[in-house]
Parts: sequence; C-alpha cells; structure tokens
Amino acid sequence: MPSADLDTLAGWLRDARHVTVLTGAGISTDSGIPDFRGPNGVWTKNPDAEKTATLEYYMSDPEIRRRAWQNRLSSGMWSAAPNAAHEALVTLERKGRLHDLVTQNVDGLHHAAGQSPERVVEIHGNVREVKCMTCGWRGPMHDTLERVRAGEDDPKCFDCGGVLKSATISFGENLVPDDLRRSQLAAARADVFVSIGTSLVVYPAAGLPEIALRNGARLVVMNAEETPFDPIADAVVREPLGETLPALVALV
Ligand SMILES: [Zn+2]
Repeated sequence: MPSADLDTLAGWLRDARHVTVLTGAGISTDSGIPDFRGPNGVWTKNPDAEKTATLEYYMSDPEIRRRAWQNRLSSGMWSAAPNAAHEALVTLERKGRLHDLVTQNVDGLHHAAGQSPERVVEIHGNVREVKCMTCGWRGPMHDTLERVRAGEDDPKCFDCGGVLKSATISFGENLVPDDLRRSQLAAARADVFVSIGTSLVVYPAAGLPEIALRNGARLVVMNAEETPFDPIADAVVREPLGETLPALVALV
C-alpha cells in the first residue's frame, strides 16, 4: 500500500484537470451523525432499526412507518453542523480544484457547508425532502415533520393519499437513474479521484473508483479503516479527516 505525503497529494490536486471526490459516513462522524453500518453503527447495534429503512417493511407495515416518523422527529440530523472536513472541500472547490462531489451521505452537510449544489450528487438521496411513494410528489421534510408533531403519526400525501417517506434510498429501493449516471460520469472524467470516509464496499459507490482507475485516474483513499482499494490506490491516508483534509487543502 503506497503512502504519499500531503505535499505530493496537493501537487496531484493542483495539476489535475478534473478532481472528483466521493464521500461516505466517515466525513460526518465529527458532526455527530452516526455511521449506520460501521462497527459502532446504529444498524449494527440494533438490527431492528434497519427495518424502518427497508422499503418492503416500510410500505407494508404502518407500525414501522410510525416508528420511522418518530425516529425522524428525534433525529440528531436536524441540528448537525458541517465540520472542518466538509469546510475543507468547499475551500477546495473555491480554489478550482474540486469539480464533482458524489456522496453516499443523506445528511445534506455538503450543501450546508456551502458546496455548489450543482456539483454535488447525493446517490442515496437526502433527508431534507419527503417524497410520495405513489405519485412522486416532493416537499420539504420540515413541513411533514410539523404534521407529525401536530399528531399525524403516519402522514399521507395531500395529492393522492400515498405513503410518504424521506427522499432517501431505502434498502430494496432503486437508485435514481440520473443520479447514478451523473456519478459514473463524474468518476469517468476524473484524473484524480479522492475517496473520503467510505469503506468502499457498498455499490454503486464502490464501483466509482473502478471506473476512475479504468480511465487512468490517480486514486487517493482517505479512510480510518482499510478498504478493498488500498492495494491498488496511489495513496492511502488513515489520519483523522478533520485534521488531514484542511491541512491538505491549505497546501493546494
Ligand atoms: Zn402522492
């Protein structure tokens, strides 16, 4: 596993024509957002909670939906703020060295940090919006949470009466084809591909570095734990993201 110092990485970023960044749960843990699948993850410790995020259970069981809405009401996501690593990526964009940002996170913290929305692809959707599973209506999460707070424990679509769900991709739910296409295009265009805070085991995210490598990109993996791509990466960084990313971006 080759390692490179931050000066070398900064040089790669400076010289790149197209930098694509992929982020996962690891970039948001400093903001207090739990990692759902990691060793201390919410679903790892409480597999029952995973049911609320599984489409089949959610659609068929009103009790699961009631529990999901209560979880959303009490979710720490609404008060979470971007951390130094999110902010470093905004600085990288302002320096003209970040062209596409694909994220597996649904917390919206890249947007909150000030990343240009048109550069961000949220392949697993986001929690800021609610969608109707029947007619496709979308609206702000805030408004629907107000309905739950006012006593509707399983709010339905005003237009068609359909089931409402956060606009995230649940287990068993198809990805949005346009988001998938944009993320693959972003990977193919990259000559430097930086994977940050993701274990690179969940598809389609895990397929993106493959696409980048096939198209001749340099691959940088920044993650606390090992990933399957470490042996073929051009550089692997294990140090905490909240310190390393700002230090790296300052050198670019
Ligand atoms: Zn509807």
